[in-house]
Amino acid sequence: MIPPGETIGILGGGQLGRMITIAAAQLGYRTHIYAPEADSIAAGVSDAFTNAAYDNVDAFAGFVADCAVVTYEFENVPVEPLAKIDSVPLHPDPRALEIAQDRLAEKRFVSELGGIPAPFASVTSLDELGTAILDIGTPGILKTRRDGYDGKGQWQIATPSDAASLDLPGKPLVYEGFIDFFAEFSVLLCRGADGDIRFWDTPENVHKGGILSHSTIPAQANVEALVAEARALATKVAEALNYIGVLTLEFFATTDGPVFNEMAPRVHNSGHWTIEGALTSQFENHVRAICGLPMGDTSLSARSVEMRNLIGDDAHDWPDILNDPANHLHLYGKAAARPGRKMGHVTRLTLD
Ligand code: AMP
Repeated sequence: MIPPGETIGILGGGQLGRMITIAAAQLGYRTHIYAPEADSIAAGVSDAFTNAAYDNVDAFAGFVADCAVVTYEFENVPVEPLAKIDSVPLHPDPRALEIAQDRLAEKRFVSELGGIPAPFASVTSLDELGTAILDIGTPGILKTRRDGYDGKGQWQIATPSDAASLDLPGKPLVYEGFIDFFAEFSVLLCRGADGDIRFWDTPENVHKGGILSHSTIPAQANVEALVAEARALATKVAEALNYIGVLTLEFFATTDGPVFNEMAPRVHNSGHWTIEGALTSQFENHVRAICGLPMGDTSLSARSVEMRNLIGDDAHDWPDILNDPANHLHLYGKAAARPGRKMGHVTRLTLD
């Protein structure tokens, strides 16, 4: 067990790291952020900050030496430097990161455990794309295997002729069939060092332009009907990876059952509602799990909850948001409200 007072190292300096830091501080831990960007919004609220590239061996060793445990908030942290951490625990296991960083590896891994992703094929050339389209059909989506997030690195393919005119990015890709879903949802769990698994209620998620727009809890009944199967898969993933911490799996809800979309080996935007909407938030339970503390109750604290992301200029509405006492406003302290940038979120509880 790593007791309060010790230092938690966090790789990545964005809003997820900021919210982990706030939860860690509440439990009396210090945090040390490691991030390549100088203007880290997580470092702004942490006790220590190493501003260096992930492959800076000396900086990395100095950071690890200051920490009692290391975790990550950013999915694209290079896995290689993590292999060098042997003096302190690193949670979740970097194998989860390695799998989640590659859409192809992720789909294969989950398929082996019995999950059903969208039909998919590896693509490295226009010829292979043509074959994938013949096998899987259109419409479909071509995605970069790595480094894609919030809809970035994706191309919609409505007809086979769309593919012919594509200028492929010269990176490994995956083509996947378009899923005719009636809703999207995610499974959020936290697994402790003793193997104990806690789930939060299932948020139903609406994306706009590939970016999460809002999450509603509870989900509609026809989504709830798919939750047991989705949780069973998430449990298998967590156990196969001997996972410690918060794990998120995203699904498409279809009339044939839950279709796996992707996994995130970390706290997740679709779990931000848990700060006020659950008795223990995803951030607090992540801290508790990686430190070997007992986990807190994940039950709902309200009859229903809605979390809405504040993207780009939405954040300028903060005075109006605060005028409604049911709203809980979170602003991440980012300087510029660029289009598509997650600037904050607002959570609304319905108590009666
Ligand atoms: P991703 O980054 O892969 O999670 O994609 C972002 C969003 O694009 C998803 O949450 C869906 O709304 C949509 N999307 C991605 N892949 C598919 C698919 N195969 N079929 C239908 N919609 C998709």
